[in-house]
Amino acid sequence: MRDFERYNTLLVQSVGSKTGPIAPTIIPSAAFGYSNAEEAEAIFCGEAPLPLYARVGNPTNAKLESVVAVMEGGAGAIATSSGMGALAMVLTAFLKQGDEVLCIGGFFGGTYTLVSETMQRFGVRGRFCTVDDFEGIEVALRSGVQMVLCESVGNPSLELADLEKIGELCTKYETLFVVDNTITPLIVRPFEHGADIVIYSSTKILCGHSAALGGIAVFRAVGEEKEKLRQSRYKALHPILEKMKEKAMIGICKKRAMRDIGMTANAFGSFLTMLGLETLALRVERVNKSVGIFVAELASALPDGYTLRHPSLPDHEHHKRYKSLYPDGCGSIVTLDCDSKEAAFALLNRLQLVTQTANIGDNRTLALHMRSTIYRDFDEETRSSLGVTEGLIRISIGLEDPLGLVEDFLQAMAK
Ligand SMILES: *Cc1c(COP(=O)(O)O)cnc(C)c1O
Repeated sequence: MRDFERYNTLLVQSVGSKTGPIAPTIIPSAAFGYSNAEEAEAIFCGEAPLPLYARVGNPTNAKLESVVAVMEGGAGAIATSSGMGALAMVLTAFLKQGDEVLCIGGFFGGTYTLVSETMQRFGVRGRFCTVDDFEGIEVALRSGVQMVLCESVGNPSLELADLEKIGELCTKYETLFVVDNTITPLIVRPFEHGADIVIYSSTKILCGHSAALGGIAVFRAVGEEKEKLRQSRYKALHPILEKMKEKAMIGICKKRAMRDIGMTANAFGSFLTMLGLETLALRVERVNKSVGIFVAELASALPDGYTLRHPSLPDHEHHKRYKSLYPDGCGSIVTLDCDSKEAAFALLNRLQLVTQTANIGDNRTLALHMRSTIYRDFDEETRSSLGVTEGLIRISIGLEDPLGLVEDFLQAMAK
């Protein structure tokens, strides 16, 4: 079991302050005054740790960044305007024209098009392979790709990546390993498996309340020796490594992406994200427990014509991996294949407790028909490689009574 109790203590204590205002302070200023010309120079050359200008840092964002860095066990973090902002920041900061990124597994739609369309337009090539294609992964690593990108749990494919094994390969070939851990905060610890950067869309379960769009990238410390970033394929980054040492990845992101593109979080959004973070461990524990109950109960009463898919079910291809590597669950998502679009629409429209929306990780249970919404612009081949079938509904379990949810789905199926 992951230590949810320890995280409860850590998160409430680090978000709150013991003196002065207890809740995090919102500092909405876009600019910050410098006390004299010398201080201005010191701030700009990185010697004085004071705010420079809100596009590259704000005290409310800094508080959120320090909480998430401690939670994740990283050396530092950068809060961004959205989860896509965090991904775009990391890709544009670390890669350049002619570089390649290996994408392992099925991806969130925005991440898929960021790599396959947008980055491609600027000369960064994306390669794609399935989570279990270890031979293909090794071939790509040997050929010198600059970055490996992987989601802890495929959304909505529900494939589970063997992060341990992929991390070992990235260490062996000294290649940057980036994990999008949006769906599994606290229950998957990517830095323990050799990840270099962990990315979150904080819009999802980090917040839980759907009141703030945001993202965050967390970085491990950069070392002196045996540091993969010192490899010649990362030569363009070396001047920043020399200057910023342990926190060099933050410098790389700020100086090569955030300063020039501006995917910065705003203070009010960061404040709302911290309100969510305080109760993250409670909610993660509860949701993962509820998913187990929901899946087991619904599977045992499922009428013909529906297929429930979740790694906790013995017929899932990664059931064994689920049992060994995901002891606390794999997040809020469950999928239900209703066989046809008509049956999926009918079911969705009869549900009483469920909100239909394009989000996950909310305190409320959410559901959406995949093919007619998020994946409507994808070609058939891509859709099927991402596991999106005609009748597929993605469900994100919330904090409601799980047995009440089962009852709701069964009544919607019975009509
Ligand atoms: C939602 C999501 C994103 C994008 O985050 P936004 O905050 O919506 O920009 C990226 N990755 C995963 C896994 C997501 O679920």
